[in-house]
Amino acid sequence: MLRIMNTFTGKKEEFVPLKDGWVRMYVCGPTVYSLIHVGNARPAVVFDAFRRYLEYRGYKVVMVQNFTDIDDKIINRANELGVDWYDFASAMIAEYFRDANELGIRSANFHPRTTDYVKEIIQIIQGLIDKGYAYVASNGDVYFSVRKFEGYGQLSGKKIEELMAGARIEPGEEKKDPLDFALWKAAKPGEPWWDSPWCKGRPGWHIECSAMSMTLLGESFDIHAGGEDLVFPHHENERAQSEAYTGKIFAKYWMHNGMIRIKGEKMSKSIGNIFLIRNALRAFGRDAVRLFLLSKHYRSPIDFSEDIMRDHKRAVERAWEALRKFESRYEDLVPVPKRDQWMEEKKEAFVEALDDDFNTPKAVALIFDLIKELNKAMDDGNEDKALKIYHLIRREFGPVLGLFDLEEEREEATGIEEGLLNLIVDIRSELRKEKRFDLADSIRDRLKDMGVILKDTREGTIWEVKRKNV
Ligand SMILES: [Zn+2]
Repeated sequence: MLRIMNTFTGKKEEFVPLKDGWVRMYVCGPTVYSLIHVGNARPAVVFDAFRRYLEYRGYKVVMVQNFTDIDDKIINRANELGVDWYDFASAMIAEYFRDANELGIRSANFHPRTTDYVKEIIQIIQGLIDKGYAYVASNGDVYFSVRKFEGYGQLSGKKIEELMAGARIEPGEEKKDPLDFALWKAAKPGEPWWDSPWCKGRPGWHIECSAMSMTLLGESFDIHAGGEDLVFPHHENERAQSEAYTGKIFAKYWMHNGMIRIKGEKMSKSIGNIFLIRNALRAFGRDAVRLFLLSKHYRSPIDFSEDIMRDHKRAVERAWEALRKFESRYEDLVPVPKRDQWMEEKKEAFVEALDDDFNTPKAVALIFDLIKELNKAMDDGNEDKALKIYHLIRREFGPVLGLFDLEEEREEATGIEEGLLNLIVDIRSELRKEKRFDLADSIRDRLKDMGVILKDTREGTIWEVKRKNV
């Protein structure tokens, strides 16, 4: 029996999908104004792995993950760069997929963009106005009346009185009540805008996820997921406006992942303590990054440090060593073992761990125990046992978590890069011997632009790669 912690009830509940055998889930995706960092990657990796597990358990899964492609940060960044905001957002989406791919994250079934759903957004807002849940301010802004929705605060566990204490009406806002939030905002001069019955403007942040999720998955669906920093106000508001609009339950289960911290502080672009996922991948490799994200329970915070990452990298390398050693006996023709009681027991333990609110640390520990057993079986010459273990890791448990799943191409790629760099440095040394300094200096300068620093020492030239943006 699969049980998950439902943020809405605050309890671990048995997972019973709305339609037998099917799971419809929506995960809030990134606002595409920068490259993704390790903190952004956590929900993507965790909920992709959860979806793989649901499939392993026999469910058919329809997964939606959106891109917020209209936002102040996107507009500001595009203006700084002097490019069109839409083109900029499109480029960032392409970069997201590049990183996600390299991290071994499968694409969702649908990746909607906010600006493709403006028509649906307007339709919901109009419905909310018609039902008396929303009102139009004199400047054309539209607000949701929080107090009209009974049960506001139930998802985040906040009471109206508590919320009142921190609520303000900012200058220029024409809210009736400080708790109300914007569904539609009048465009400021120079901003992108869409026509609407109320004014030229753009959607508020929360309404987009209601429109995209309900259009693609229906008015009620099984799981709504995202980072715990989204519980309030984003998910609270999403729930309120969706249920006010349809009169039905919006998401049956709410799942939230914890934050990544650096020295105790949340990793976030606004704090400036971020570690880009592509730098993490370059430095530690895919499996180490995934291991880092999955070896703690998804709801717990995780502390990120280069030391921790190096430990994970070493653990991954040792595991690969054992797997490679076994594989090398068969090249690419590793046989399929006959399933037996022992394998079934291992599978039961794996499923039992993940059935308990997706306890990946337990499942990961099980995989690493199996690695130990693999080494022992090989030492003992127990080929049959070794084959069973290999099969469980590489073809069954690994693929569910995306660990030891794909080949470690990165290691080889680095080997080529290093070889090429050594070759260039050797050629430059030859040029220097022939006193062709202009060419040698040009090579040094161009490598520097690429982040490779050459140092000419008495013993010869050494090089180091300077990581950027870390
Ligand atoms: Zn969202």
